[in-house]
Amino acid sequence: MADRYPIFDNEAVHASLPQDAAPVVVVCEHASNAMPSEFGGLGLDRAARESHVAWDPGALPVARAIATSLHAPLIAGAASRLLFDCNRPPEAVDAMPPHSEVFEIPGNQNLSDAARAERVRRFHDPFNAAMVKLLDAQVPQLMITMHSFTATYNSQPREVEIGVLHDDDSRFADALLACAADHTAHVVRRNDPYGPEHGVTHTLKKHALPRGIHNVMIEVRNDLIATADQQAAMATMMDIWLRTAMVACDIPQEGGAQCPA
Ligand SMILES: [Zn+2]
Repeated sequence: MADRYPIFDNEAVHASLPQDAAPVVVVCEHASNAMPSEFGGLGLDRAARESHVAWDPGALPVARAIATSLHAPLIAGAASRLLFDCNRPPEAVDAMPPHSEVFEIPGNQNLSDAARAERVRRFHDPFNAAMVKLLDAQVPQLMITMHSFTATYNSQPREVEIGVLHDDDSRFADALLACAADHTAHVVRRNDPYGPEHGVTHTLKKHALPRGIHNVMIEVRNDLIATADQQAAMATMMDIWLRTAMVACDIPQEGGAQCPA
């Protein structure tokens, strides 16, 4: 949209701000499967580089639509999570995973300390710095992180369609779950298919919990957001759902229609 302007735009992170930003931040750590050419695609074929192991397909268009509707800043990863997973701390083994689901990642085998440090410097540090700078400047009351997950994992189909994930602060997740049945016909579950025990609440723990702000991580099954039409429909449903939970949590809204309490 015309009144949105970039504040970070590099190989690690893209971030943009609307001029009249609401006190809400939308984050999409796994938005991109891009890899600078010198990494040689980490030795993966094209199918693997385009699969869910490299990024969260469909998550960015949904995150962008929600950020636009809510007048929220958007912070999105700009490189594949196989280079560095910005939803993990640098010391986590799966921050630069040697394998992911059924895929071996040749370019991540036996990384030296120097190679790991270089990945942290190029991808983790700029993303983290953008998060801190934007959160300090915007002082949000709510952080929404948007992800997608694969419909079939290790050959097992997944029934859950939308996961509402949280760590120690479940206030906003509770509010979302309380009105899920009124706002979505999807199969919605708490901390499913992932939860804090899988290390996926890193961004929430690092950037939201210390600030005491409301927070939630939303996981959408990626077969439900595979096309532009599906992404738009999911964002529209989620926008109404999120606004209802924001009313319940006394979080101010800007832009679009206000939902009744
Ligand atoms: Zn993700």
